[in-house]
Amino acid sequence: MDFTIDKATQARLERVHELGKNYIRPLGLECDRLGRPLPPEHDYFKMLHKMGMGRTRWRPKKPGEPEKKKDTNKPGNTRSTLLVSEEMSYWDRGVAVSGPSPGLGEGPLIAMGTEEQKERFLGPFINPDRPRWAAFAMTEPGAGSDVAGIRTRCVKDGKHWILNGNKSFSGASSRADWILVWATIDPALGRDGHRAFIVEKGTPGLGNFHIEKKTGIKGYESTSFVMSDCRVPEENLVGGEEYYTGGKGFKGAMKTFNSTRPMIAAMAVGMARAAVDEAMRFARDNDLLGDVRVRDRLERMHRKVKMCRLLTFKAAWLADHQMPNIVEASMCKALAPQVGMEAASLGMELLGLVGGRGDHLIEKLYRDMKAMDIVEGTGQIQRVVMARQLVGFPN
Ligand SMILES: Cc1cc2nc3c(=O)[nH]c(=O)nc-3n(C[C@H](O)[C@H](O)[C@H](O)COP(=O)(O)OP(=O)(O)OC[C@H]3O[C@@H](n4cnc5c(N)ncnc54)[C@H](O)[C@@H]3O)c2cc1C
Repeated sequence: MDFTIDKATQARLERVHELGKNYIRPLGLECDRLGRPLPPEHDYFKMLHKMGMGRTRWRPKKPGEPEKKKDTNKPGNTRSTLLVSEEMSYWDRGVAVSGPSPGLGEGPLIAMGTEEQKERFLGPFINPDRPRWAAFAMTEPGAGSDVAGIRTRCVKDGKHWILNGNKSFSGASSRADWILVWATIDPALGRDGHRAFIVEKGTPGLGNFHIEKKTGIKGYESTSFVMSDCRVPEENLVGGEEYYTGGKGFKGAMKTFNSTRPMIAAMAVGMARAAVDEAMRFARDNDLLGDVRVRDRLERMHRKVKMCRLLTFKAAWLADHQMPNIVEASMCKALAPQVGMEAASLGMELLGLVGGRGDHLIEKLYRDMKAMDIVEGTGQIQRVVMARQLVGFPN
């Protein structure tokens, strides 16, 4: 593995550093104080839009263009993306992921959608005329880790599908142009019954948006909503009916999750680094570094964060070289949030009463960190995934 950072990535990291110091951190603290995310019309989003952020990675196929073959000899650059995510989250993870973008809906739409659907729904994100968001909604009040247990029903009615159900904790869905919603034709079919739909903003029956009051990560909108006899045109069934043979639909969603786990781990590494830096600063400013126990605990924490970083690099390196990374992806996702929580907890102990006041960055990181253990597969679920691979734990 090569640990050098190429010039382009270095330049990106320097730009993110400036953005983080001047905008992401101060806005994150403001959102935390006010207990809500930035509104979609906020100047920060206009600035990101002007900077060219929030665009889709999808590009339309030119007429007659053959299917692109992946060049398996050319390594990708996942590590560069992870480094940028880590740096953004160092400043504030909520604001870092709140920017306009096709969000988590983009991956499954690229993996499963027809060319026409990609054109319609990702096309506006190629060169967006304004800050735009899209969203992904799988989780329901009774189905989180066990995504196979979703209860939102979809029933075909002529040229439409009728959707009924509740979704929760869907990122940015109240401001989204469209939401990629997962539903089932019959809960008894489990994964084979799953269908994904693009539900567009303003569709009759889509409503009751409620932004959740989370423990932390307040800079990022997590929303519940209801679909009540929500009529979705048949063209919005992602991939068309023929796609859903032999449980392919569910696999489409899972494939996306596998590739995003190292990203969440990298974000947790960034937040853990911030906690260690702040704890170190507090210890130095308050003459705590003379105590050998404090020095020892800080050094141990620093070492653990580095270890997590190396694990995320390994998962990225395997992905970049088209090698299976399922164990490493779960390993770094399971470990980095735990280490982040430990780092924030150590910071709180050093802070003492100052932490108890509730207005210190470390106290905020202490609340922010838990979400990283939950999103995109909890720590326990990652351990189940690893146990299946390593010791044949049953499915
Ligand atoms: C900040 C944030 C953003 C989110 N964004 C989105 C989004 O954009 N779209 C979306 O669809 N969802 C989103 N979610 C929801 C997230 O995916 C779920 O919270 C997550 O899947 C866990 O589900 P749950 O909270 O219902 O917990 P449950 O699944 O009810 O789990 C409760 C506890 O039981 C444990 N557990 C469950 N099953 C097992 C098992 N088989 N073995 C061992 N332990 C188990 C879990 O680890 C957990 O500790 C978001 C959540 C958060 C916190």
